[in-house]
Formats: sequence, C-alpha cells, structure tokens
Amino acid sequence: MVNYIIVTGGVVSGLGKGITTASVGKILQLHGYNVTAMKIDPYINCDAGTLRPTEHGEVWVTEDGGEIDQDLGHYERFLDINIPKHHNITSGQVYGAVIEKERKGEYLGKTVQPIPHVTDEIKKRVRRPAKEGKFDFVLVEIGGTVGDYENVLFFEAVRQMKLEGDKVIFIHVTYVPVLDALGEAKTKPTQHSVKLLREIGIQPDFIVARSDDPLDIVRREKIALFCNIHEDDVISDSNIDHVYAVPLLFEEQDLCRKILKKLHLRKDVEDIKPWKEFITNIRNLDTAVTIGIVGKYFDIGTSKLSDSYISVIEAVKHASWANNLEPKIQWIDSKDFEDNPTKLKTLESVDGIIIPGGFGLSGIQGKIDAIKYVREHNIPFLGLCLGMQLAVVDYAQHVCKLEGAHSKEVNKHTRYPVIDYIPEQVNILQESRYGATMRLGSYPAVIKKGTIVNKLYNATEVTERHRHRYEVNPEYVETLEKCGLMFSGHSPDGVLMEFLELPDHPFFVATQAHPEFKSRPLKPSPLFNGFIKAAAKKKEYIDKTAIKQLA
Ligand code: GLN
Repeated sequence: MVNYIIVTGGVVSGLGKGITTASVGKILQLHGYNVTAMKIDPYINCDAGTLRPTEHGEVWVTEDGGEIDQDLGHYERFLDINIPKHHNITSGQVYGAVIEKERKGEYLGKTVQPIPHVTDEIKKRVRRPAKEGKFDFVLVEIGGTVGDYENVLFFEAVRQMKLEGDKVIFIHVTYVPVLDALGEAKTKPTQHSVKLLREIGIQPDFIVARSDDPLDIVRREKIALFCNIHEDDVISDSNIDHVYAVPLLFEEQDLCRKILKKLHLRKDVEDIKPWKEFITNIRNLDTAVTIGIVGKYFDIGTSKLSDSYISVIEAVKHASWANNLEPKIQWIDSKDFEDNPTKLKTLESVDGIIIPGGFGLSGIQGKIDAIKYVREHNIPFLGLCLGMQLAVVDYAQHVCKLEGAHSKEVNKHTRYPVIDYIPEQVNILQESRYGATMRLGSYPAVIKKGTIVNKLYNATEVTERHRHRYEVNPEYVETLEKCGLMFSGHSPDGVLMEFLELPDHPFFVATQAHPEFKSRPLKPSPLFNGFIKAAAKKKEYIDKTAIKQLA
C-alpha cells in the first residue's frame, strides 16, 4: 500500500517547502524506496503557464508538456525522476472538473458542494499516482500556508484521506525567528500555526522548523509540548550552504527511520554514500567559473530574479560541479547595453554568457548586442530558446547582412522574418488561446554527425523539453548556413531547427529547447557541461586571440 507524506506550511510563505519535500523524498529514496512527489497549487489558474515568472518564479516544463510551478523542478532534480503534469493539482483544474461534471448531470440532481464534491475530486487526483502501483511513497506538498482561505479544501481533503484509511504522515514546515532586540529564538508563531492545523483536524507527525541557527533543546521541548508531538519529531532545518545538503541534515536527525517507524516499515538498503561524497566535493572547490546570465527580469530585485531562472542556475551549478568548479553567477541586465553600449565590454569579465529563454519585447536589442559581442570576441556562449532565436537574428543582421532581419515576435513587419511563428501557432494567437498552447514538452532532434552538439551528447538523436511559439524560419536556413552558421540538429522531419553552432568559435552553441530542465545534480546537461568546460578555458582562447592579433 502506498504511503502519503503530506507537507504543509505555516507562519510565512517562502520557507522552502519544495526543498523540504524533495529532501524528505531523497532520504527515502536513498534508503531504497520508490518515491514520487506532487504539488498542490491553490490558485485558480489551470497551470502555471500563464503566470509571469517575476510573479511566481520560473515555469517548469515536464516531459509531457505540463507548465508547472518551479517546485516540481526541485522534485525532479533531487529525485532524478521525470514527473508527469498530472502531479500538479490547482484549484482551477479541480473546480473546472467539478463544474464540467455538474453540467453533464453526473451528480444526479445533488446539490454540488465544496465538501464532499470538491474534496472528492481532490482526493481522486491525489490518489492517482498510487494507482500506477509502483510507488512506495507519494509526497504531496500543499502550497501556501495553513489558514489561507484558498487552500482550506485541500487541507480538508488530506484530512479525510487519513480518516478513510490511507497511510498518511503529516509534516508541517514552520519558521522560528530570532528577534534582534531579544536575541532569542521564538516558537510562538510555530505554536499558532500548529494550532490552526489542529483546528482543522490535522495533527502533524513532524514539525520541520526553519531557522537561521540549529534549534536548541529548549526550543525543541517547547515546540513538542505546545504542538503535541514528541521532541524527537521536531526537526531542525537551519540555514545551510547548499540546498542539496538538506537531505543530509534530515538524515543526521534520523528523519527517515522515524518516518518508517510510524508507518511500521523497515529501513531497507542504505545508499547514502554517493550523495554524501557529492556534498563533500561541492564544499571543497577552490577554482571558480563566472557565468553571466543576460536577462531582462531585473527590475524586481535579485531574490525574485534567481527564482525566475532557477533551472538555468541549477544547470550551471551541476555542470560546474561536474568539472570541479565553483559556479558564480553574474546578473547582466540587457537593457543596460541599450542605454550604454560601452558597457558591452563588461562581458569580458565573465567566463561565459548565457542568454536564457524569454518572452516579450523588452531588453531584446541589448541581448542581440551582447550576442554579437561574444560572437566577435570569442567569449563562450550558450543560447536557450529565445537565446537561439536572437543568435539567428544577430547572424542574419550582421553576418548575412540581411538588414532589419528579425523575429516576428519582436517586429511583425520585418523584411526578413528569420524567426517566425510555428505554423500551428497562427490560429492559436489569433484566437488568443494562450493557455497550454505553445510547443510544449519533450521532442526529439536529429543531430548532425561530427558537430560540437553531436560530441557533447555523444548521440545522433536526443530529446529535450520545449516551450515556444516561434522557430527558425525554414526559408532562411540555407542563407544562414551559407554565411557559416551551422544548424547541428533539427526535428526528425527536418523542418524545425533545434541546435546551432559556430564551428570556428571556442563555444557558440544554442538550442531551441530548454536543456536546463533535464539537468540533475549528478548528471549535468551535456550542453551546459560543454559550455562550462569552454568557459573554464576562456582565458586560453582570449590569450590566443590576443597573440593572433599581435602577430
Ligand atoms: N518567445 C519565444 C517563443 O515563444 C521564446 C520562448 C522561450 O524562450 N521559451 O518562441
């Protein structure tokens, strides 16, 4: 029988429930259990596809084309599994399904109510992964905090699950602040949030207390007494250098064994050593590689910024660690180049440049200028989706001399639309059907033998995840190639260009896909890996160029 671990939050949002969920999953997995995870998002949107990244963080794309909250990315990265889109439940999906059934008369004349009809729909969705019969544990993270109006029915549904005989463990994540004036860690907010939880009929089995410093024995005792749990079940989750070290923090407190004991399960095999070694390695790196990410979401402060590009950042980390390098990220606002082109020179201070995915018009010119600069100055470059499209625009304008060449997303009336809509998108956009209508999810690409991309993947067919409406216009492929741009991979039918590279550049590679979604801590994305290797050697390239110039 499947076991559910429900992760809820209290006190404040942003405590890292996603990391907690992923880390609990990881320790269970390292002890030999088959684990998957789900995320409940109480918003009315049917998925995260229409959410602005600056508002809600990155939109995560699943293999099967779901556009999901970034927490699914944490689960996939920590657990090294692919999670399907139905593992994300939103209020919009649940209400949509209930209303559709009501319209079809499926409730047989009953008054359709939040309880039981909406909660039944929620339970059906939460129980769906268990039906596959292959999981020992399903972790379910409920977004928001206890006491929010919008998630109350989700709490009610999981309460009912326990009552109905499902094997359920509740983990409540809270915050223990230290008041500067007192210099003392305060447990009262935790007590209050657990009180709220108990009022709706849920007694937590574990409390994971987020705090700056490790929880002392006095705080543990207090939380235990006031929250009606055993002291041992209060888990300290203090600030730590790497999120990937959180599973070890839990392991040190024997959380896995404690969970298994409550569920009357045996502690199975234990294979935690490779993860421990990985953490030890990343803690002892003495050479750094500095990667500049040229983006546009910069008006919102750096904390949100890293959320908007989290998978790109994680992919940079994974590839850097695999090369024994300490990654350093530099945020570069493309709009700065538009205001002051002399700033382009600052691109030389980093070891490599990434132009990540993006939508809309702002900051586009600055990105094109940056691409031209790194192309001409031998600075390693990785273009992701929009990054590839703008690399094509730069090449068309400045090398093929197609004056005014552009992407139709930016300039509808360009004479040379080198980037155009994918044909199916024309009607979709005319009818304003924006939700879940991009080219989404995993698609295969055929790779040309002997190219850099071929060497990096060591394969002639690869699959990566996608999220876009525009593509390289097939009519310009020949012209671009004649000017020296190499399309190193395309869709199996040969129509959509999926990868490009410049053979004479130290590293100038771009893809229409988002390889960052498949990067894992111990299995870096091949493209990021190649890019980081090139970035690490940048000094050599630059010196060689300097020598060439002198000669
Ligand atoms: N805006 C571009 C498109 O829709 C790029 C999308 C992206 O970078 N994910 O094709």
